[in-house]
Amino acid sequence: MSGEPQADCLFCRIVAGEIPATVVRESEATLAFRDINPQAPTHVLVVPKAHYPNAAALADADPALAGALLAEAGRVAEDEKVAESAGGAGYRLIFNTGAGAGQSVFHAHAHVLGGGDGLREKLV
Ligand code: 5GP
Ligand code: ZN
Repeated sequence: MSGEPQADCLFCRIVAGEIPATVVRESEATLAFRDINPQAPTHVLVVPKAHYPNAAALADADPALAGALLAEAGRVAEDEKVAESAGGAGYRLIFNTGAGAGQSVFHAHAHVLGGGDGLREKLV
């Protein structure tokens, strides 16, 4: 059924507490934890606790949960002081979708990237 935990999914296992992670925020429906291989001073992953393979599938199946994920990503940016409203230089949200675009874990997740003097490369 849609959203059910997948035994072979890394992020479902982190949500279940079977694999340790450095959790920075938790809500009823989402979990935010530090990326194991950070690409910026702040690099946090925000995931829905329910399993969807990517952000579009999440938004299609549960738009309210997709909105909650985005709001939680914003709160992470505030907590980490990378949001301009918290005195930072701003931050970037990335949803890699598909292996060819760099997605390696097929459980929807937002990358929250920021910190330092700001993100140098403007991708788009
Ligand atoms: P993707 O490449 O799918 O957009 O993002 C997956 C992210 O998960 C990568 O940035 C990778 O560094 C991170 N990652 C992979 N394995 C683990 C892990 O066991 N723990 C944590 N915290 N992050 C992980
Ligand atoms: Zn999963």
